[in-house]
Amino acid sequence: MDIPRIFNITESAHRIHNPFTPEKFATLGAALRLETATRVLDLGSGSGEMLCTWARDYGVTGTGIDMSQLFTEQAKLRAEELGVADQVKFIHGDAAGYVSDEKVGVAACLGATWIGGGVAGTVNLLAKSLCVGGIILIGEPYWRKLPATEDIAKGCLAGSLADFLLLPDLLASFGALGYDVVEMVLADQNGWDRYEAAKWLTMRRWLEANPDDEFVGEIRAQLTSEPKRYAMYTREYLGWGVFALMAR
Ligand code: SAH
Repeated sequence: MDIPRIFNITESAHRIHNPFTPEKFATLGAALRLETATRVLDLGSGSGEMLCTWARDYGVTGTGIDMSQLFTEQAKLRAEELGVADQVKFIHGDAAGYVSDEKVGVAACLGATWIGGGVAGTVNLLAKSLCVGGIILIGEPYWRKLPATEDIAKGCLAGSLADFLLLPDLLASFGALGYDVVEMVLADQNGWDRYEAAKWLTMRRWLEANPDDEFVGEIRAQLTSEPKRYAMYTREYLGWGVFALMAR
């Protein structure tokens, strides 16, 4: 079981697989006023940077589940590197339907809400693992400005314009699910650059190291087209943020 290989190639050198930076994760941890020994569940935990740094900085404990074998291995190594391997656990697997045995104080899904079939389904899934009074974290894109055409939305790699909302509407949608938005930390274009532009050097080095791989054509095409596509579309139109929710 694994995610499509293209992501394991283009994001192999990423510690954070979304437009957040280490500073944004630190800001989010501080904003949530995390307390020592708070249990955190992270669905789609990637290379584990959020759990590992929060374990180091705030003394939380936690479990991450991710379908990428590579990212899960990297998360385990990162936990050892930061000296928090006794506080955090990383499981390689499908997080769809995952409910923790012990209830958690923070249940998160950052940049992987397809795991629950969309934002609403993921909020419902995370709620099943949450203590009374706990916090749900959703990391999700939104339109910084509404694309004038479906072609622009597709240029942002959205399936359609309807895939995302404007920020005010996204915030209101959490209310419609019965949740208060109690905090938010938004990514910025610098963070987008760290996420997207970091793929380019990874792709270039991968091409040099793997000249006979069956993916060469695809990676070559992406490396050629991505910088312009990213600057024209994603960087201009797409925002991303982490939203902290508490049930009303
Ligand atoms: N939250 C992480 C990773 C976001 S990228 C971070 O902020 O860095 C999306 C992640 O979802 C990837 O790591 C991918 O491997 C994982 N993923 C995709 N489908 C999944 C599934 N069904 N179950 C668990 N993880 C999944």
